[in-house]
Amino acid sequence: MSRFFSKKHSALTPYTPGEQPKDRRYIKLNTNESPYPPSENVIKAAEKAAGSLNLYSDPEMTELCRTAAEYFSVFPDMLLMTNGSDEILNFAFMAFGDEEHPFVFPELTYGFYPVFAQLNHVPYKTIPLQKDFSIDVSAYENVGANIVIANPNAPTGMYLDPEKIQRIVSTNPDSVVVIDEAYIDFGGESVLPLTKEYGNLLVTRTFSKSYSLAGARLGFGVGSPKLIRDLNTVKYSTNPYNVNSMTAAAGIAAIRDSDYYMSNCRRIISTREKTKSALLGLGFEVTDSKTNFLFISHEKISGGELYRRMRENGILIRYFGGEHNRVTIGSEGEMERFIEVLRGILG
Ligand code: PMP
Repeated sequence: MSRFFSKKHSALTPYTPGEQPKDRRYIKLNTNESPYPPSENVIKAAEKAAGSLNLYSDPEMTELCRTAAEYFSVFPDMLLMTNGSDEILNFAFMAFGDEEHPFVFPELTYGFYPVFAQLNHVPYKTIPLQKDFSIDVSAYENVGANIVIANPNAPTGMYLDPEKIQRIVSTNPDSVVVIDEAYIDFGGESVLPLTKEYGNLLVTRTFSKSYSLAGARLGFGVGSPKLIRDLNTVKYSTNPYNVNSMTAAAGIAAIRDSDYYMSNCRRIISTREKTKSALLGLGFEVTDSKTNFLFISHEKISGGELYRRMRENGILIRYFGGEHNRVTIGSEGEMERFIEVLRGILG
């Protein structure tokens, strides 16, 4: 820390992203990226937009919002496009959190939530998961604080149906409920339609997973026009050109090619279920995942040991400390190799 670093940030522990090592070729099952490339149309659209990079991007993201609004059956003024969904989540803490309006979220969830809270000096409280790693919905009813829930949750992969989310949203009318649907395309049902009914619901989405655009950095929030206006106040006070024009063009083309991406999701779901069966056969405990990853543990090998042995064998998985590992679902071939290496490790 330099002597210039502001005291207001001196206690901040930043988020640690999954490693992206360059020392050798790895099978990357550690950051929940898609194993499938963007569609041809997306690549062409980004290339074309590169020719106009001398100009600023459209701060209102007019065409992208219009395209997304049509696809997701909402109105364009209910959308805000951001630099990955991390940015809309940060904006939500900035816009809606303060001393009088703390946030609550599950004890085991996306590790960025407590960082956003600390960065923005928003008090927060965590609510333990139940023994089977599921979210205790009743603990969020009438909680009297802003809420953020990843649905499906990460790193557990476990999912709450819309009726349960609706219960949380409707019993907290004076607080903002943020539902982070980063992984919703891998088998869950979205609560996007509820944004028209509830003025306190903000749904966040990303193009990083199901739309194969992690490197482009594109996410968005969906909520009532009033919520979106507040978030825009924060955005225009931070970075009006938060989404670059190549990414915007890629996003438009990606939505138009949704059939391709949804068919990739179905492939990933089928690979996930095959991988899960193989893991159960090897004696692993595996949570019921509706995402592109599995949360696994084994009584004969610790999380840390499994992570190290996998890495030695050229496969990266995510280790958070403790008994569990999170394994992203790669291509069929990658997951076959993963299971083969696992068999070797377990003897
Ligand atoms: N929410 C959850 C639950 C995530 O796992 C991630 C990915 N790390 C994000 C949001 C943010 O993803 P991105 O910024 O790439 O949209």
